[in-house]
Amino acid sequence: MEKRELLYTGKAKSVYATDNADQVVILYRNDTSALDGKRIEQLDRKGMVNNKFNAFIMDKLAAAGIPVHHEKLLSDTESLVKRLDMIPVECVVRNFAAGSLVRRLGVEEGLALNPPTFELFLKNDALGDPMVNEYHVRSFGWATDEQLNRMKVLSFQVNDVLSKLFDAGNMLLVDFKLEFGTFHGEIMLGDEFSPDGCRLWDKDTRKKLDKDRFRQNLGNVVEAYEEVGQRLGITFD
Ligand code: UDP
Repeated sequence: MEKRELLYTGKAKSVYATDNADQVVILYRNDTSALDGKRIEQLDRKGMVNNKFNAFIMDKLAAAGIPVHHEKLLSDTESLVKRLDMIPVECVVRNFAAGSLVRRLGVEEGLALNPPTFELFLKNDALGDPMVNEYHVRSFGWATDEQLNRMKVLSFQVNDVLSKLFDAGNMLLVDFKLEFGTFHGEIMLGDEFSPDGCRLWDKDTRKKLDKDRFRQNLGNVVEAYEEVGQRLGITFD
């Protein structure tokens, strides 16, 4: 496999072509953004931590039968993945109220949601990733009914697998965001799963161990990500 030209630069990752049209290389950078990219800072080691964290989680999901784009780690900060045609919506599953749900509905942070909720957001920084519903997704042609249903089923499967995994490390999986794409017509989980795109709290103290540490200026952001990794048995060095 040969790494070729830069295809796309996102807020925290860069995507490179390879000599195989079906594969791309993802480079995890130290950039950390909030407020739809309006605030960006460099956090030492974060690219490496998220790359290895994501590889560990994607392998667990694949072992549970969930189709994922991840293929293998290439280096501390690079992974080889299948090249997907991305669906421009974010799928968010919530087990406890936090973040935008608290702001939108005025409920208390930490309220348990039974059953867990499923929400969709359009990927559009200029519009601030507005919430959309299933009709918008279908009517604007972002995904078909069948693709949408598959994304929903897979999102709840991911929730089942990962809620148990984090529970074993004495953590609550509060909420998380997934992005899907198609690979030769099949819906597959793309993007990344790391503490940048989910909320994790210590079960006893409810200490925040995710990107809210950056959003809320709580400090020790990457240290918290590494603590989550250590609780799951991931080694970073
Ligand atoms: N999230 C994300 N990218 C986004 C928006 C949200 O990864 O562009 C994640 C976020 O980290 C959280 C979940 O999706 O785990 C739900 O986020 P929420 O809607 O509460 O928005 P926020 O409060 O983060 O703006």
